[in-house]
This record gives sequence, structure tokens and C-alpha cells, in this order.
Amino acid sequence: MKKNSLRFLQTHTNMASVISELAPDLFGEKYIDKGERMLYSLFIEAVEQVPIAISITDKKAKILYVNEEFSRVTGYQPADILGENESILSDKRTPREVYYDLWRTISSKKIWRGTLCNRHKSGEPYLSDLTIAPMLNESGAITHYIGMHRDITKTYESEKKVVNQKLLIESVINSSPIAMVVLDDQDRVILDNHNYKALVSDLDKGEPATYFLQLLREEMGDLWAQLQSKEQGFNHREFRVESKGNQRVRWFSCAGNWFVEKEVNADAFFENVSKHYLILTLTDITRQRRQMEELHIQTLKTMMAEDERVRGIRETLLGAMHQIQMPMNQIRAAEQILRHRKDDQHAGLLQILQQIQQSGEEAVVTMQKCIPEILQTAVIPINLNQILHEVLLLTNQRIWSNDIEVQWQPLAELPAILGSENRLRILFKQLIDNAIEAICESNGSEKRLKITTDTDAELIYVGIEDSGLGIPVEKRAKVFEPFYTTRPMGGNQAGMGLVMAKEIVNQHQGFIEIDPDCEQGCRFKISFPLRRQVPKGIE
Ligand code: FAD
Repeated sequence: MKKNSLRFLQTHTNMASVISELAPDLFGEKYIDKGERMLYSLFIEAVEQVPIAISITDKKAKILYVNEEFSRVTGYQPADILGENESILSDKRTPREVYYDLWRTISSKKIWRGTLCNRHKSGEPYLSDLTIAPMLNESGAITHYIGMHRDITKTYESEKKVVNQKLLIESVINSSPIAMVVLDDQDRVILDNHNYKALVSDLDKGEPATYFLQLLREEMGDLWAQLQSKEQGFNHREFRVESKGNQRVRWFSCAGNWFVEKEVNADAFFENVSKHYLILTLTDITRQRRQMEELHIQTLKTMMAEDERVRGIRETLLGAMHQIQMPMNQIRAAEQILRHRKDDQHAGLLQILQQIQQSGEEAVVTMQKCIPEILQTAVIPINLNQILHEVLLLTNQRIWSNDIEVQWQPLAELPAILGSENRLRILFKQLIDNAIEAICESNGSEKRLKITTDTDAELIYVGIEDSGLGIPVEKRAKVFEPFYTTRPMGGNQAGMGLVMAKEIVNQHQGFIEIDPDCEQGCRFKISFPLRRQVPKGIE
């Protein structure tokens, strides 16, 4: 075999090597001794039967040899094609630059690999995955070319279909008005759409998926793992998202669906390895929420107006009862003195005093009965940010018309407390109304209302601070006493607002005080325990 005058490039393929060894059959038998003839026949058989289309050409691509697979792929029998140029296979759709590249490569003694558009003898086009290797003689000159090709039309079609499907899915996902993201079982983002990408910068929460997954897991607890194991989805999980230092509150509705994908790695070929993925969709429902909120605020306004009316009546009656009490006490004292004297001289007066006292007591009882009840509300988990936000909306009109600057600084993720929504709303409305009043009375250049929420391991804090005149130190304890007011009495100004505020805070096992460190204006500090038990008195 070493006597063979043909030699290939160092980079030649095994098949080219086989063909080279078969060269004596193709180019004369003068070098072949008898002992090697059997081996050559074997090689020829192998090349004939190998399942890849092989052709050998001269330097100008004139076909000298084709194997059986070549005939099967192209439709040409050796008799049809031997002596023809390989260009007979061209569908004439392959760009000329491809042929220039092909010839430039093979004429510089290199192997060329590429895809050409060929035409079957029947006229049917097909895609040819072609490798051409030059064959060199002993002096290194090209003598022949060997071409090996496969029909890859079907593979190409399926690859293209997959790519097209992927592009279609991507364009559908991208055109969706909903933010979508696909996460693997390590919560890593595998695929996302434009709307999701926009959230990354809009929300200021790092990776939005991580943020929402945490909220979902916290809210759903064990249910999360149950749904995941059964590949059951979830939807309509709504979350309020507050950006730090930003007044804009957004609402998102989350839905998710798990799906399983078979692994495509080589090491998973013989094993049925699969991976769980989650498609998470995040719908911005802020607009709908705002509309609902507006409706809610209208309802609240009506409720609060009714509540204020009731409180007005309560306070007026309580005030009247309080005022009656003083003369009643005096009459009772006078009556007791007269009774102790036991003389007949004042019997008439004693009787009159007793009658006055009796009718006074009856009047008090009647008034007591007339005091309207404040409506009870259910005890539920409450987000104080939400309540304060609502109260701010309720007082919006007054805040705007008085040109007050509101500094609303809620803690983004405030834990819920158990309590009565209605009562807490009354509490904060009272404190904010007082603050607005104080700001308006002060005539100062600064008109500022600052509301903050915060938490630590045990308590939730609310701060309501105004830039008004403040409350002098000596009066700070008194403002929580009944019927004490720094303003003229009348209507709602009966000095019962802070008494009621304190009562509501107490019912929630909280604490209210005027911040002694507040130097300008007044700052009410309210704290509520984080305990998850129903507060006493509001069951
Ligand atoms: P051509 O005029 O044949 O060639 C176009 C350009 O290629 C020319 O302008 C020239 O720059 C260059 N060129 C052509 N022949 C040579 C040459 N002998 N030396 C240097 N440069 C040259 N083509 C297919 O379409 N399908 C195939 O399956 C295919 N298989 C081939 C297998 C082998 C082993 C070889 C060597 C070539 C193969 N070709 C194949 C290429 C084919 O020979 C043609 O070059 C091509 O089909 C373009 O033909 P054409 O008539 O359009 O242009």
C-alpha cells in the first residue's frame, strides 16, 4: 500500500484515506501486488456501501466515481453521471460566493465544508451537507477531489421549525402586555419578555421575579410546595408594591404555572431526567385598583361622615352629661346636708332638691340612652400603610386646599397587625385632622405633614408629625383627658378626639405619646405590638 503514489493532506478524513488506498482500482493496478488485492476489494466494498454519498472527481470536478449512496441521494446512476461536472447537481440557488469560497479553499489544498442547494435527478431540490477534500500526489500537487455529502433537508426543516417556533413563542411573549418570566428550579431567570425587563428598572426591587416569589411563598405557605409537586398553577395573587422613597404605589396580580421539561444533555440520554420550570406572569393592575380604590374612598367618605356625625352627637351628649354632673353633685351635697339637719323647716326645700336630683338623674339616664353606638367591625389582619394611605386620600381635599406638603414615608414591607379597620381609620383620621388644623393655625411659612411607618422585632411604629405650633410640655398629658381642648368647644371640638384616639390605641394593645424630642411642631408616636392575637375589647 505504501507504494501507492497518492497521498492525502495531513488533515484528510478517514473516508478520504480509504479512498486513497483504493486509488489503484481507480487509477491503474500497476502498484498492487497480489497479496493486497483482497484487502483493496474489501475497501472498495466498504466505500460502495458506506451510507454517505461519495464522489471522486478530477481537478475540474468531472465525476470519475460515485458510490451507491450517491446514486440513492441524487437519483443519478453511475452511467448517468460519470464524466459530468459536479455542477449538474446544482439547483442554481446557491450564491456564487459560496462556490468561490469552495474552490478557493480546495484549490489551496484545504478541506471545504458547507451546505449547498442541490437538485435531485427528479428535479426535487435538497440540501447537501458537503465535505470536499483534495487528493495530492507524491509531489504534493492536487490530482483529484473527493466529495462526501448527506441530504440534510429533513434535519434542516425540523431545526428551522424549532427556531421558527421559538421565534413565534418569543414574539407572542414579547407582545404580551403582561410581564412574563420563566424560572428554573433554582429560581434563575431562563426567559423573560420586554415587559418583565421594564419592571427590573421600574420597581427598584432587584430581580422582580425573586421579589414576587418571596411574597408568593410567604403568602401561600405550605400551599406553594403542594401546588408545585402536583404541577398545579395559581392565579389572582395580588400584591401592593411600594417603592422606597417613592409615593407611587403599584399593584400586581401574579399567576404561575409549573411545567416539566426533559433534559437534553448527553448524560441524560439513557436516563429520564426532567427539570421543573415555573412560568410566572405579573399583571399590573394598578389602574383597576385605583378605580376600585376611588370607589372604596367614596364609600369610606360616606361611612366616615356618618361616623363623625355619630361621634359629634356622642361628644355633645357626653359633654352635656359632664356639665350637668357638677350642679348635680352640688344639689346632692345640699340635699344630704338638709337631710342630716332633720328639721321640718327645710322639708319643702329638701323635697324640691330631691325632685331636682331625681329629674336630673333621669335626664342623665335619658341622655345616656341617646348616646349612639359606634359600629363594630371585624378583627382582621391590617396593613397600616393601607389605612394611612386611605386616610390621606380622605383628607386630600383639605391638604391641597391648605397647600400642605405631605411627606409620606411608609416602610415598604410592613407586617400586618390584627385589628379593627374602621377604628384604626378613625384613629388616624383624628390625628391627621388635628395635624392639619395645627398647621393651618400656626401661620408659619412651613406647612408640612410627615407620616412614617416602621417596625422592629416587636412593634410597628406610626409617626404623625406636623409643622404647627406644637403642644406645650405642661399640656401634653392633659390632651388625652376627656373634655380638654386647646380650641374653642363646640361640635366636634368637644375635646374628646384624643381620648377616643387613646382608647382605640389601647384596644389594640398599643401605646400613644407625644414625642418629647420633637422640637418643631408636634409628633404623635403610636406603636402596636406585633403579636398575632386578637386585641381585647374589639372581638
Ligand atoms: P462554475 O462555472 O462551475 O463555477 C463557479 C465558480 O467556481 C467559477 O467562476 C470559478 O471561480 C470556480 N471554479 C469552478 N471550477 C473551478 C476549478 N476547476 N478550479 C478553480 N475554480 C473553479 N456543486 C454543487 O452545486 N453541488 C455539489 O454537490 C457539488 N459537489 C462538488 C464535489 C466536488 C468533489 C467538487 C470538486 C465540486 C463540487 N461542486 C458542487 C462544485 C461544482 O463543481 C461547481 O463549481 C458549482 O456547481 C458551480 O457550478 P456553475 O456551473 O454554476 O459554475
